[in-house]
Amino acid sequence: MIQTLQAVRGMKDILPEEAEIWESFEGITRDWLKSYGYRPIRMPIVEPEPLFHRAIGEVTDIVEKEMYAFEDALNGERLALRPEGTAGCVRAAIQHNLVASGGPQRLYYQGPMFRHERPQNGRYRQFHQIGVEALGFAGPDIDAELIVMNARLWEQFGFTDIKLELNSLGSAEERTRHRAALIAYLESNRNKLDEDAQRRLHTNPLRILDTKNPDMQEIAEAAPKLADYLGEDSRAHFEALQALLVDAGIAFRINHRLVRGLDYYNRTVFEWVSDRLGAQGTVCAGGRYDGLVEQLGGKPTPAAGFAMGAERLLALWRESGEVEYAVEQSAPDIYVTHQGKHAQHLAFRAAEALRDTGFDVLLHCGGGSFKSQMKKADASGAPLALVIGEDEAAADEIGIKPLRSSGKQHRVSFQALPEAAAKVIYGAETQQDYDPREENRQGAENGSV
Ligand code: ATP
Ligand code: MG
Repeated sequence: MIQTLQAVRGMKDILPEEAEIWESFEGITRDWLKSYGYRPIRMPIVEPEPLFHRAIGEVTDIVEKEMYAFEDALNGERLALRPEGTAGCVRAAIQHNLVASGGPQRLYYQGPMFRHERPQNGRYRQFHQIGVEALGFAGPDIDAELIVMNARLWEQFGFTDIKLELNSLGSAEERTRHRAALIAYLESNRNKLDEDAQRRLHTNPLRILDTKNPDMQEIAEAAPKLADYLGEDSRAHFEALQALLVDAGIAFRINHRLVRGLDYYNRTVFEWVSDRLGAQGTVCAGGRYDGLVEQLGGKPTPAAGFAMGAERLLALWRESGEVEYAVEQSAPDIYVTHQGKHAQHLAFRAAEALRDTGFDVLLHCGGGSFKSQMKKADASGAPLALVIGEDEAAADEIGIKPLRSSGKQHRVSFQALPEAAAKVIYGAETQQDYDPREENRQGAENGSV
């Protein structure tokens, strides 16, 4: 027997029922992004591997152990599946001169990202992010806007328990001074450091602060705080951001140990965390990265952004019980049954004419008796079936059979079909099955005679 192949571990198929929820989610987020003036950008999924080394940092979890990097067998080029979107977005902005020629840019993208992590609930090897990047903005106003924007989306989805954590990483120089103090402190406690911390002591000591090891909490908590090393400008930026958030009524907690897993951040960093998702509670993370554009070869350009984990937000949405109201029903409006050669021609024409009017139509394919076709019509969930036999075909008429209401089966002329269909479908509709597409249909109905 031939062995069947399975999807790669940690990478999931999203089947139709689930994919419909995704589409609905994407529609809501698109409208939300547009309402803040963000414009879409689409980058390749594969980028040159060095891009991520330069942007994310050599001594980060992502670059050290999570990247899908490989050699292009045809030309030997080192490539990587993108583990996040900021690096590629900034690369694209530099390559196409976006900020230099068009001024500050508000950009977003969404799509799959790849990290070789241990798969578990809320953590996959292929996962999806919605990323937002504001390029060319220096002030705390854009930091505040990003966070206000997040808060609006949570409200829209009915998420009430996502909490905001905030920190400032200061400037590169301020970090250098803090780093020296941190290394001295960690060295004096060397015997209490775990293996990971020992290894990072001189390469990336800041990351030791966000250790998840329970035995390391005490030592991380007592370490020198970045806040005490901020200069006047960084402090003023952080305070202005906080004032704007207070004004907007957004609650936050300052977490001195929030440092983020990517090296490119400075000043503002933030995370939105839910306690409904276990250890994978961070649904959105971001901050300022003023040095990145220059680091990747562009002109100095201040910037800030965030990325949201789609799987985690969808898990919250599903749990909230709101999904079923928001997701467009997949049932067609009309199922077309037919038998005979002439009937088949008429069935194709009828289905197209109904689609012209805005209906969703499932045309039966594959033959079979009317009885078996009608079973399929019933199972489809459509409120209306069309019945087209050779008799109907000869008269250019169509059988109308209501499936969810008590109306009788009857025949109408081809011309009268859209109106007759509308009568059955809207007549059968109750308040509870309100369908968001109804408006479109009503528009179409009014336009037809
Ligand atoms: P974590 O601490 O959970 O590993 P991270 O700091 O590595 O997160 P970011 O690089 O900031 O994550 O990515 C932004 C968001 O993308 C995260 O907050 C999370 O919601 C989501 N995310 C990151 N990695 C994964 C993954 N492997 N599977 C699913 N979602 C993920
Ligand atoms: Mg991670």
